[in-house]
Amino acid sequence: MEIFAVDSHIWAIDHELLGLPGVGVTYVVTGEEIALIETGTALTVPQTLAGLDALGIDRAAVRHILCTHIHMDHAGGSGHLAAALPNAFVYINSSVAEHLVNPTKLMASVRRAVGEEAWPLHGELLPIPAERIRPAEQLYLDLGRDVVLTAIATPGHSPDHLSYLDHKSGGLFIGDAAGLAMDRWGLAFPVTPVPTYDLEAHRATIARLRALDLPRIYLTHYGPHDDVTYQLDRAAERLEELVELVNRALADGDPDIAALAARWVPYPEDGPAGVVARSWTQMSVAGLIRYELKRRQATG
Ligand SMILES: [Zn+2]
Repeated sequence: MEIFAVDSHIWAIDHELLGLPGVGVTYVVTGEEIALIETGTALTVPQTLAGLDALGIDRAAVRHILCTHIHMDHAGGSGHLAAALPNAFVYINSSVAEHLVNPTKLMASVRRAVGEEAWPLHGELLPIPAERIRPAEQLYLDLGRDVVLTAIATPGHSPDHLSYLDHKSGGLFIGDAAGLAMDRWGLAFPVTPVPTYDLEAHRATIARLRALDLPRIYLTHYGPHDDVTYQLDRAAERLEELVELVNRALADGDPDIAALAARWVPYPEDGPAGVVARSWTQMSVAGLIRYELKRRQATG
């Protein structure tokens, strides 16, 4: 478990998502009160708690657990964290809050989306009592010492996706709103997953993020980036590459998801991050195909 400083009031704990370093972080934002942003999965919670211990943070001092969206690597650890952090509320878009109270349906859907190879790496959700969940879409959270977090709607990757603006640094905790950039593994692409990906919303979100003229973005996958324009441009470019690949394959007939994913993001089979690359790119190809077929059906 690695910890690194992001700003004078922000730490990042690498919680070893999917068993690897450099894939996922939980951010620790410190004012008088402590907020965590992103939970990882159930399987990453021990590393996150060890990180808090290493930072000397009392578990009772963590008051807020913010999730950008309902996917397993962003909210999957929320129940386990809530159990270990007795004074914390969990914040998520209220449109999906019921899934944290009663996670059975969500877990079945994730299992279908990520496939059997990657499913065991996602962990299981622990239900959270409804009274410990708060709606995040209108969030204004004053942690004290001039540290304020507010929410911005950034749908597309998922309809419930929120990003959290840290007013002190001007940086945005962006979740999966644009694209991922895992420098250690040489992976950078937007994730467009089944079953609820929305291309038009995603394009609009990237445009909106550009217009915000942010000094920094804090990626969940992975870490802080100051080259915001480059990151947003690259995510947009790689997205349009995928759109073209998928549309051409649909025009040719029955699309081969694995082959398309490998063409979009070529990645060695045997590398340690191969399972991440394969699972997330195949999920993206499938998500975009599903979106496109739904769209065509709707427009006749
Ligand atoms: Zn996601």
